[in-house]
Amino acid sequence: MPTGRTLMIHPPYVHDNYLAQGTPFVTDRQPFLPVAPLYAAELLELHGFAETRLFDCQLHDLRDASDVAGYDSYGISVMGAQNITPAYHVFRYLAERVDSGRIHVGGQGIEKLSEEEFQRVFPGGHKTDRQALAGLPGAMDVDLERQVAKLSDADLRVYLANEMTLPFSQGCLFGCSFCGAQIQRRESFFDVPTHLDLHCRLAKRFGVSSIDLYCTSLDFFQQALPGGDIARLTRLLEGVIELRERHGLDIGLRALTRADSYNAAMKSEQIRDLTAGAGFSRFGFGADGAASADVVRAMRKHADGLRSELLRAFEHMEANRFVPEILYVFGIPEDTRDTLAETRELCGLLLETFPNSEYRGFPAKNEIPGNSNWNRRGWQGSAAHTRLLDEPDLFLNLGFETLANEISHPDPDKRLMVNRFAVDMSHLAHELGRVGSYLTVPVADEGVEIMDDPTMSRYREIVANYAPDLAPGLRPDNLVAQRTELNSAIPKDT
Ligand code: SF4
Repeated sequence: MPTGRTLMIHPPYVHDNYLAQGTPFVTDRQPFLPVAPLYAAELLELHGFAETRLFDCQLHDLRDASDVAGYDSYGISVMGAQNITPAYHVFRYLAERVDSGRIHVGGQGIEKLSEEEFQRVFPGGHKTDRQALAGLPGAMDVDLERQVAKLSDADLRVYLANEMTLPFSQGCLFGCSFCGAQIQRRESFFDVPTHLDLHCRLAKRFGVSSIDLYCTSLDFFQQALPGGDIARLTRLLEGVIELRERHGLDIGLRALTRADSYNAAMKSEQIRDLTAGAGFSRFGFGADGAASADVVRAMRKHADGLRSELLRAFEHMEANRFVPEILYVFGIPEDTRDTLAETRELCGLLLETFPNSEYRGFPAKNEIPGNSNWNRRGWQGSAAHTRLLDEPDLFLNLGFETLANEISHPDPDKRLMVNRFAVDMSHLAHELGRVGSYLTVPVADEGVEIMDDPTMSRYREIVANYAPDLAPGLRPDNLVAQRTELNSAIPKDT
C-alpha cells in the first residue's frame, strides 16, 4: 500500500500518450473525472495510510511537474488492459527519477496479472491489490468530497463539461469468458445518493445546468432477475429523482444492461417510469453472440434466448424513447466466416429496424488480464503473451476498439476476416449516422497485414470523417506507420 505523501497519477489516454511519443502535451479531447484513483486516495486517507494528491495526465503534463520526485509514494491507476501501455510509460518516467520500490500500480487492468507478469512490465514496482483496499471497512460507503475539494476550479470546470462517472454498483453474477470485470459475484452498491449529491453541488457551484453521468453498473437491472432485490433498485431510482428535483438539474444518465435483466425489470411499469424519471436515456446491451447459438455458448454467456430477448428489449426501448446501444464483441476463436456473416446481418437488422439504436461493435480480444481466458494453458507462454510482457506498448492492441491485430488474432487469415466484418459493420453504422464505437489502428511490425485492399477502401471512407487529409493516402502497407496520427484523430470511445 502507498504510504506517506502520495502522488496518485491517472495516466494519459492510450492514443494521446505524450510520454511515449515525446510529443508536446495537448489537453485530452474528452477528459473525465478519474474516480478510481480518487476512490483509492480517500480510502488510503480514511485509514491513515497516506496523504494524497491527484495528478491527472489528461489535463497536465507530467514532465512539467517540478516536484515530482518529492513524494514518499506514487500510485498509478490502470483502468483496463490497454491502459497498461500509458501506465508503463508513467512508471518508466518515475523510475528514472525515484526508487521504483516507491511506485505502486493498481486497478482493474493489472490486478489479475501474476506477480511475475507484473514484474516484467513494472520491474521493482508494487502491485496494489484492489481487493485489499475494497476490503477495508466502509469501502463501499466512501464519500469523495474531501478528494474533490483538493482539485482546482479550472480542472473541475473541465470535468463538469464532460460525462462523469457515477459510482453505482459493482459485480455481476454471470461469467462471460471474454469479460475482465468483476464477474461471478453478487452486485453490491455504492453510496449512490452521496455521490450524486456531490456531482449536483459541483454543478451548481459552477453554474452548470445539466450534467451527464455514466453509471458503473455492469448490468444495471440485474436485481430484477430471480433472487434479486428489485426494491433496492427502486429505492435508488427514487433517490436519484429526489436529488434531481431538489437541485433543479437536468441529469442525463446511461448504463449497461443485459437484455434479459432489462426485460425482467420492465415488466414493472413503476420501474420503467422511475428509470425515465431519473434521467436515463440510453442503455448499452451486450449483444455478443446473439447471431449464433454456438458462439453464445462458447462465450459462456448463459443467454440461449439472447436474440429474442434483444428484440423484445429494443422494441420496448423504442416505444419508450430510450436509445439502445448494440455492444457487440465478435471474432472469438469459435467464430467462422458464417457466424461473422450472421453477426453482420443481425447488427444491420437491428440498426435498420430500430432507428433509435446505435452501434458499438468491437473486434474481440479473447485474452485480457483478468478474464478467464488469460490463464488458459494455450495462451500463457504463447508467442503473443510473451511479446506483450516484453513490449508493453503492445497492450494498446488489447483495447476493445482496436482493430484485430497480431496479438489478438495471430492467424493472418482470421485477422483479415475479422477486420473485414468489423470495418463493414462500422461503415454501415457511419452511413446511418449511428455509430458509438470507432476502430483504431494497432501497433504492428512492418509487413504485418491488418486489412486487405477491399477492406481498406471502406476504412478510408470511415477515416475521411475524422482525418480527411490522411484518408486518401491510406493503404494496407502504410496503415500502421500512420497509427499515431490516425488514432489521435479518431474519436475516443467512451
Ligand atoms: S459481459 Fe456483462 S453479463 Fe457477462 S460477465 Fe461481463 S458484465 Fe456480466
